Order: sequence, then structure tokens, then C-alpha cells
Amino acid sequence: MPEDPLLTPLQFLTGVGPKRAELLAKLGLHTAQDLLWYLPRDYLDLTDVRSVRDLESGKTQSVRGKVVDIDYRQLTGGRTLVAVLLECEGGYLRATWFNQVWMYKKFQPNENVVFSGKPKWSQGRWEIPNPEVQHIGEEDDVSSALSVLPRYGLTDGLKMAEMRRIAQAAVEQFVEFVTDPTPPAFRVKLQLPALSDALLKLHLPRNMHEAQAAKRCLVFHDLLDFQIALALRRRYWKRRSPAPVLQTTPKIDARIRRLFPFSLTAGQDAAILDIVNDLQSGSAMNRLLQADVGAGKTAIAIYGMLVAIAAGYQACLMAPTELLTVQHWQTVERLLSHSRVQRLLLTGGLGTKDRQAALEQIRSGTAQLVVGTQALIQKDVNFAKLGLVVVDEQHRFGVMQRAHFSSGAETVHMLVMTATPIPRSLCLTQFGDLDLSINGELPPGRQKIVTSRVSTAVNRAKAWDFIRQKVHSGRQVYVVCPRVEDSFESFSDGLASAEAMYRRLQEDELQGVHIGLVHGQMDRDLKAQQMAEFRAGKIQVLVSTTVIEVGVDVPNANIMVIFQAERFGLSQLHQLRGRIGRGDFQGYCFLFTETDKADAMQRLLALETSTNGFEIAEADFKLRGPGDVLGTRQHGDLPLKVADLVRDEAVLKEARAAAFTLVDSGVLDQPDYAMLKIRVLDRFEKPMELSRSG
Ligand code: ADP
Ligand code: MG
Repeated sequence: MPEDPLLTPLQFLTGVGPKRAELLAKLGLHTAQDLLWYLPRDYLDLTDVRSVRDLESGKTQSVRGKVVDIDYRQLTGGRTLVAVLLECEGGYLRATWFNQVWMYKKFQPNENVVFSGKPKWSQGRWEIPNPEVQHIGEEDDVSSALSVLPRYGLTDGLKMAEMRRIAQAAVEQFVEFVTDPTPPAFRVKLQLPALSDALLKLHLPRNMHEAQAAKRCLVFHDLLDFQIALALRRRYWKRRSPAPVLQTTPKIDARIRRLFPFSLTAGQDAAILDIVNDLQSGSAMNRLLQADVGAGKTAIAIYGMLVAIAAGYQACLMAPTELLTVQHWQTVERLLSHSRVQRLLLTGGLGTKDRQAALEQIRSGTAQLVVGTQALIQKDVNFAKLGLVVVDEQHRFGVMQRAHFSSGAETVHMLVMTATPIPRSLCLTQFGDLDLSINGELPPGRQKIVTSRVSTAVNRAKAWDFIRQKVHSGRQVYVVCPRVEDSFESFSDGLASAEAMYRRLQEDELQGVHIGLVHGQMDRDLKAQQMAEFRAGKIQVLVSTTVIEVGVDVPNANIMVIFQAERFGLSQLHQLRGRIGRGDFQGYCFLFTETDKADAMQRLLALETSTNGFEIAEADFKLRGPGDVLGTRQHGDLPLKVADLVRDEAVLKEARAAAFTLVDSGVLDQPDYAMLKIRVLDRFEKPMELSRSG
């Protein structure tokens, strides 16, 4: 037996044994502690279940019984009525629902249910209008002494009754060994029960209120640890010194502004103000700039870099793809064509000799402004005097890569930019140690993109007619496909690959039009050449994969066709769509779909009706969970035990506030919080690289 009883392997628990232990392992449960923390997926609430004879009118009560009749009626005035008759102990009871047709399908004859609501006496019988319904399954042992039955997630071969018994035995045997790492004063302030009490009530609640409070407490602990870890990391970043003081003057400001062919929007100015303040604060900037597609983040980045350079430091801008890096480079070159600032492009495509030369310029400090891909964070890249790093489209990078720039003697200022409107709750977690600037404003003159779903052959033909017409009047078009090449997967018309589409459009829908092709597996020179021709207007229609997803900026391209749109995430579609509608022409986005599945259509509808990236991301997040919004790589495996970032958003906010108060006030460093700190380090030191953060 291990020293800590809570780590006792499950097979040694009362009523478990090796066979059941194997089944429990499939649920990720290995030790007594795992079992204690195993949240029931829901509960069957049998509190205040009464015999029909004992009902009182007007008070919320519950009745258990068997469904003997299900009735649906159309009433006058277009109203509908669903009524269910229950045979209960002591008589019959009727439940009614007005205008909720769907309730009709919720019941099976002879099924056992619990109805809760306020009964009234009507036509010689008790009736509960609009009750809450709980279905009783075969696994629910209603004769048990418990008034609230937890229901657990199971696996093949494990019965609910067994699981309940095992969990209860575990609680009874082990809960006394659970110590709460938070001091009593903290719990009083936050109205939290002691952890052992919460675990007990999670599995053996007397009523639903207890069960919910217990669950909230566990989720809170889970998120508290995580947020403390973030707060510690942030404190470390802030404390590390010296961070160079990069001062701006009105003269520098005016000189930078003169470079842009437009005046900055109020949103851009606000973000710049945040950045300027950070840069001259003396402690390292760690800022996330969130601004929707097309909001003009590049200008903000360039402003910041020029401030750093004016203060005598180097600055670099890192982008996630070569395409985007080259585009940024071209923007920089255009804006700084008359400037003395020494610029350098660093991509993975440089030959050995050129690369050596570039590295030398970076090392010696001759290169003042460096634009590059991830080649910038390779070990042999050493800056002489780096002041500011801008990372564009952060969601494409592992969060941890931020750390790589700071490994030198001096801390650098860091600006992370993203158009992925990260849902608030994720922002508080994954990016929770960054300060946040949000720019919700688009430059003037942007039009709303007209978006439509196209799901029939007739409408597809119409769309192509429309597109041909626009092409002939000088507009350019993106055609986006989910895949690069053909595969053996069969599609209704086999069009899903970029290469096949490229060939087909030339022969069919877009005969005589100059068509180009880019995708990720293409040779980089060819890719760059195709992009350049598209930008120059020589290529009229560009067939591509999602390589054009982020950042690509060709104002004359105002039409986009997305094939098999249902295969993309909403936020990704929003990003893609953000490529168009940048110039003076009305933008059109056609979402071609080959599905009539309701949920897919509904997701795409969200895109048709909203152009707000934040709304779309929230919708996506709710429909698909965080992993898909940011890419699983990004979200990673946060070692959260019971919390769910979507479901528990409210608790997350409280936990975050508590955690940051503890850390920022220094309270966490007091002896009575030592246990809590140890628990945080135990759980998060590795996954969040806290040790690197001191
Ligand atoms: P994103 O935020 O998506 O990275 P970009 O930086 O690519 O956006 O900018 C999108 C387009 O808007 C570019 O063509 C850029 O020149 C233009 N732009 C940026 N700021 C302004 C502004 N203040 N007024 C007008 N156009 C602007
Ligand atoms: Mg951009």
C-alpha cells in the first residue's frame, strides 16, 4: 500500500477487485482519489416524492409513476396540448404541456418517470402543469434509501448500481484522508465547503442543492489551481528585469504615422497606446492583441517595432506561414522603402550561405527589423539587442514558444496578435497570463460580405454564372477546397481536392479564365510566384487550400467560393471569408455544401447571419468545444480534473479573480498557503513550464 491512502489502487477497494479495476481503468480511474473526484454525470432527484394522496396544491413536489397514456391534442386558436397520465402510488396524475409538441415524443408507455412541479386539483384529479421530467432507467434503484441518486458515466460491463456502490464505499472509506489545501479563512470568504465535505456530498447528497454545491466546489478547486499557475507565470514575467525602456516621443510618433497611407482608426490608436505604455514601463510587455480579420493589425505591429528600433533595439515579426511572412515582408518593404531602417527576411527557404549571412546580421545587430517564419526561433538565431517580438496569428503557435525569445539575458517585450476571436473563457485560461487589447473596429469603408449557402446543383450553376460575370468585370476570386489531392474517399461529385478543382474549373465552369493554384504541399517558389501573380491581377481565380486562411490581403479579390464548407470549423470559415471584402467592392462568399444535415446547415447559418468573429467563435465554441476552435494542439492537454471550460465559465471567472488576488497580493506566499502552492506546482509545473518561469 502506498503511503498516501488516497493513492490506493482501486482493485484493493471494497467491492472492486482486479476485474472491476480494469473496467474502472477504462474510465481513467486508477486510485481511490480518482474515484472520489469522479463527477456523476447527473442525478436522479427523488427528494419530496409523494404519494398522490399526500399532494398539496401550489407547492413544488414530486410524484413518481408509470406512464399509462400519452395524448396530443390540437386546441382552438392554434394551440396544442400534450398530456401524460401517470399511474402512481395512491392514484393517477395528469401532466400537461401547452404548445410544446416535442414533449409528446419524450415518453414511452410503461416508462417510469418522476414529475416535479406545482400540482392543482382539476376535474376530480391532480394535475401538474408543465412539470420537470426525470426519466427513471432500469439502472436506477428507486427503492434505495437515497433520496438523490448519482448517475455515473459507465463502461461496458459495469452496471450503474455497482458503480454507485463502489463510489459510496470509496467515499466512506477514504474521504477522511482528504485534506483541503486552502486555509479556513479563504474558504469562509469564498463560501466553499471543505474539500472532504464536498466529496462526500458529491456522491451522497441529501438533496440537489448539496450535490450542486459540491460539484461547484470541486470545479472551483480545479480551476483555482490552474489560474494560480497562470498568475504565477504572469508575475514572473512582470518581475523579470530589466526589460528595456523603449521611450516614444511625439516626434517619433509623427514620423511613424507619416509612413502609413491612411490615418489609423481609433481602435488601432487604442491598441498602440496600450503598447506604447507597456514598452516604456520598464517591465516586459506581454500583450495579446485580438482584432477581427481585416482590422489592421499589421500597422499596429509595425508601429510597435519602429518604436523599439527608434529606441536603439532590434524588433522582429514572426508569422505562422511562409505565405504570410512574405506578405508582411512586402508590406514592410513598401512602407519603409524610403527609410534607413535595416530590414531582413528570414524564412526556412534560405540557402545555407544566405542563412549564415542573415544570422550574422541578426547577431551583430545590423538587421534592425526582421520578418520571419518559425525559423526565427531556432537555436542558432541570436539577436544582438532584441527589444520587441511580435507574433502574428498566435493560435497557430504553441503557447510555449513565447518562452524561447526570452532565453537571452534581457527580457524582450512580446506582442501576440490574433484574429481568432478567442472566446472569453479560453482567453482567461490559455492566454490567461497575457494582458489584453481588443480592437473591434474595422477600417472605414468596409462592406458587409454577402454570404450564402449553396446546396443544390441549380444554385451552384447560378453562382458560377455570377462569378464569371464578376471576373469579366475585373474582380478576382478565391476558390477554397478542403484537401490538396484526390483520395479514395468518395464524394458525390469528387470535387473536394484543390488539384482536381483546378483542372476542372479550367475545362468547365471557368473556361478561358486565368486560374492559379496554391496549397501547402507545393514548392515554395512556385507558391510565391502564384501569389505574386494573383496579387498583380494576372491570375483571376486562385484555387487553394486553407493556406490562405490567415492574413492574405489582396483587396481586389472580393469573391470566395468554399467547397464542402461543412468540413470546416466556423471560425476557420470566418477567417477564410476575412480574405475578401477588403477593397472597394462588395464581397461575396459562397458556401458550397454537400450535406443537408441539420446541424451542419445550422452551423453555416451562423456564418450567413453574422459577420462578427466573436459571435461566430462563441457559437463554434459551444457547438464543438475548445479543441476545435483553436486546434487541439493549441488547447493541449490541460490537466483539468473536473472542470469544463464551456460549462463552467461562471466558476472560472470566480476562480480566476481569487487566484490573481492571492498571487498579486503576495498572500499565496504566506505559510498557510504552502499546501495550495505545492498542489499547484504538482499539477501544473510540467504542463505549463512553470519551472522556466521561476
Ligand atoms: P489584419 O488585422 O487582418 O491583419 P491587415 O493588417 O492585413 O489586417 O489590414 C487589412 C487591410 O486594411 C490592409 O490592406 C491594410 O492596408 C488596411 N488598413 C489597415 N489599417 C487601415 C486604416 N486605418 N485605414 C484604412 N485601411 C487600413
Ligand atoms: Mg494579419
